[in-house]
Formats: sequence, C-alpha cells, structure tokens
Amino acid sequence: MKTGVRIEAAALTALVEAIFRAAGCDADEAMRIATCLVRANLTGHDSHGVIRVPRYLQWLDEGRVHPGQRIAVVCEADAFAVVDGAHGFGQTIGPQAVQLGIDKARRAGAAVIALRRSGHLGRIGDWAEMAAAAGLVSIHLVNVSGSLLVAPFGGVDRRMATNPLAIGVPVPGATPIILDFATSLVAEGKAMVAYDGGKVLPPDAFVCEDGSLSDDPAVFYGPRHPDADAPPSPAGGTGALRAMGAHKGSGLSILIELLAGALTGSGCAGPGPRPFANGMLSIYLAPERFDTEGGFVAEVKRYVAFVKSARPATPGGEVLVPGEVERRTAAARRATGIPLPDKTWRGLIEAARRLDADKGVIAAALDAAMDEPV
Ligand code: NAD
Repeated sequence: MKTGVRIEAAALTALVEAIFRAAGCDADEAMRIATCLVRANLTGHDSHGVIRVPRYLQWLDEGRVHPGQRIAVVCEADAFAVVDGAHGFGQTIGPQAVQLGIDKARRAGAAVIALRRSGHLGRIGDWAEMAAAAGLVSIHLVNVSGSLLVAPFGGVDRRMATNPLAIGVPVPGATPIILDFATSLVAEGKAMVAYDGGKVLPPDAFVCEDGSLSDDPAVFYGPRHPDADAPPSPAGGTGALRAMGAHKGSGLSILIELLAGALTGSGCAGPGPRPFANGMLSIYLAPERFDTEGGFVAEVKRYVAFVKSARPATPGGEVLVPGEVERRTAAARRATGIPLPDKTWRGLIEAARRLDADKGVIAAALDAAMDEPV
C-alpha cells in the first residue's frame, strides 16, 4: 500500500518555491522559505520542514504573516539591539536579525539581539549555524506567543509553547557543534508528523485532562478531520504536550517565555487568542576576543574527542555530539532523497494546483517523486 513518496531535495525546493511565489512572495523570499523548510527535512527535522506549507499559506491568507518585511530597529547600542519583525516570514526576518548580531559581535566582541514579533523562525539550529559559519558562538532562546501547547510540570493545562533552545559553537577546520531542541518532550511538528502517519511518538508525549499519559496525537489535535488535507489544529484536542526533563525542562521553558517573550517585548503565551509570533533572545560571542591564551579551538576539539571516546552503552552503539545526527541525516537524504508521508505530499501538490503555481515545476516534482512506504 502506498504510504508516501521519496523526492530529491532540489525538486522539492523548486515545488515549495513555486508555491510561495504563486502565493504572493517575491522570488528571493519564496526561495528562502523553500530552502529553510527543505533543509529542516534534510537534517531529519520533518516537523519543521515542508509539512508546514499548508499552515504558512493559511497564515498568509489570514494576514497573520506578511511577505517582504524588514526588521525595524526599536533601540540599540554597540552591543545590543531590540528589533521588531512585524510578523514577517521568519525565513526573512531571522537572517536579518542574526546578521545584525553577527555584525555587532564582530565589532564589540559580544552582542545581544532581542527579536520581537517574528513569523515562524522554523528550525532554530539554522540561526546558530549561520552565526557559527561567521565564526561566532551563539545562544538562542525562542518563545511562541499565540501558541499554547505545553503543560507545566505538575499540571495538565497548556501554559507554555514548545520554546526551543539552540546553542552553536564554531570549530575552525571542522564542523560546528549545534545543539537545537524544543523544550517539550516532542516538538509540536513531530506530533503533526505522527498525526499525518509519520513516526510513532514516545508513550508519555501527551498528558490528558485526567492526568494520564498518551502517545496518541488525537489527544492533542482531536479526532482526525474528515477533510484529510486540512492542517491539524491544536485547538481540536484537550490534552497537552509534556515538557522535557520533568521539572527541569518545565522550568527552562518558563524562563524562555520570560526572556524571549517578556524581555524582547514579543509577549508570552496565552491566555486567549494572540497573534502567532516567535520572540528570540540571541547572544553572540566572538571566541577570539575571549580566548586570551589562544587555546579555545584546541580545547574544543580535545573535549569533543574525549566525549566521543566514551564506551557505548549498547553493543555497536556510538556517542554522538550535538549536530552530528543532523549532518549524517542530511548526507543520507541528499544522496537518496527526502521521505514524505502521503498526506504531506498530497497537501503540497494540492496547494500548488490551487494557487496555479508553475505547471512545469509541479510536473517535474511529480516526476521526481517515487512512491514508497514512509
Ligand atoms: P530533537 O529532540 O531531535 O533534538 C535535537 C538535538 O539533539 C540536536 O542538537 C541533535 O544534534 C541532538 N541529538 C539528537 N540525537 C542525538 C544523539 N543520539 N546523540 C547526541 N545528540 C543527539 O529536536 P526537537 O526537540 O524535536 O526539535 C526539532 C526542531 O524543532 C528544532 O530544530 C527546533 O529548533 C524546532 N522548533 C522550533 C520552534 C519554533 O517556534 N520555531 C518551536 C519548537 C521547536
């Protein structure tokens, strides 16, 4: 039975770019959105990949995200700035805010950028990778006002978003170390992927109203909608995602709300309807300005090798450092293509046809997609 397709990254990128051009984005923005979403699929984070397209289009239709925006600097000094993303696409606003942080940190040695009201910033590791490529250490705390998904430790009601954290350390001559995760046990997009027939979730991913635990995304999204192509809405269910790491992850998520939501001016989660916005507090550090003894790079490399030398817990296992799984998955998917559940694929083709996107690109994508179980 057909359950999905596998498609090469270039054809998928072209299809998503054509969709966003047809939806009203200019060519550069459409390409940025497509590249970021497909990069998330390449790195194995399907939750932040092309599965997002229907929801982004719905937000565009509803005026909840705006094409062609630039960050506005609200206030700044040599080593910090508060910037407003005005609900522009995160794939447009994110790189502008990160570039400002890079420029300031290069001049001052360190910089803090408080970004408010950005559209969905996608995979936050992208921004740590951009800073690392410029030779900078960076830390990114992200909240999501307008998104109430996660129960605090000890509670069953949603009070936080999935509030990701990313930290990047550049390693000259080697690949950067990139830690990037949601502070919920599973990222919401992973629940969406599971709802669409993708990977199975851990048995304690959700907490139900009665306090019991579940792995069923219907607890969170509600019963499957008869219109199979409609994007699932978290408003449909009564359960909540659980924070990772019990009280510690829950506490981290609450502090991210305070720093990325309250301090940036983007706003914290709930209650009541609020416009969707990512707030992001980012810290950039130029390692050479801290490295008075000139030993930083050698010490990073020595320590990473020491970590990886730990004996595996399972026979044939291996200790990996942050970022390694993503690099390996990207290499494999570049070689063999990106697997997509059938529903995700049909949603893309349907959106492309509905928007009257470039027919040649749609035909090429259909040609490139090979049926396979996903
Ligand atoms: P995850 O649980 O897959 O964790 C990923 C991190 O763990 C990476 O740093 C990875 O290198 C590391 N890792 C994975 N397996 C490892 C292993 N075996 N050994 C050592 N390290 C390992 O990530 P997630 O929580 O599902 O997050 C997925 C994505 O969702 C992230 O990119 C995050 O930025 C994004 N996100 C975005 C938003 C938003 O509002 N924009 C919200 C939530 C999450």
